[in-house]
Amino acid sequence: MKIIAVDLDEILAETARALLKRKKNRINWKRINWNELSSYNLWEIEKLEISKQKSVEIFLWFLVGAGLWNKIDPVVGAKTKLKEFKKRWYKLHVVTARHFLLRFATWIWLYLNYKHIFDSVEFANFFTRFSTKKSEICKKLWADIIIEDNLENAIECANEWIKVYLIDKPWNQAYDKKKHKWIIKVNSWSEIEI
Ligand SMILES: [Mg+2]
Repeated sequence: MKIIAVDLDEILAETARALLKRKKNRINWKRINWNELSSYNLWEIEKLEISKQKSVEIFLWFLVGAGLWNKIDPVVGAKTKLKEFKKRWYKLHVVTARHFLLRFATWIWLYLNYKHIFDSVEFANFFTRFSTKKSEICKKLWADIIIEDNLENAIECANEWIKVYLIDKPWNQAYDKKKHKWIIKVNSWSEIEI
């Protein structure tokens, strides 16, 4: 039996696309497209000229309404693949960087889009005093595999001997096949073979 940790934003949910749509492709009064998201930390994208605090708040306020008034689509191919894993009795856990305060919106969204798939939802509380490393959560769950889109999280987990599947996104282009040996980069869910 395998235990798999699955990231939420951008792996299960098209959060950034939904956010940009909602904001009509304008963040901090600057125009930006999904392809231009060279970092998931908006404050690292020069042209946005945005502070870290404001970036974090934008996501936080958007996610408060996730599953309610903010429509976020599931990522194509995720559910089909996860159902396959489920048939093989793999244990599946959501491991998200999201804040614990977002748990209700998160649970609702997961219920609407991935009903009866996951065994638990773990919140890493990034950007708060209570933040936990994703690798710590994986170890607690005995997960040997994580599916991620954030390269920093991927490296951090790989350093703790957790096998990582990194799904290609504009913000993880610094991935280097030679350097990041424990990380397998794929283009989409359909390429993940466990
Ligand atoms: Mg993510």
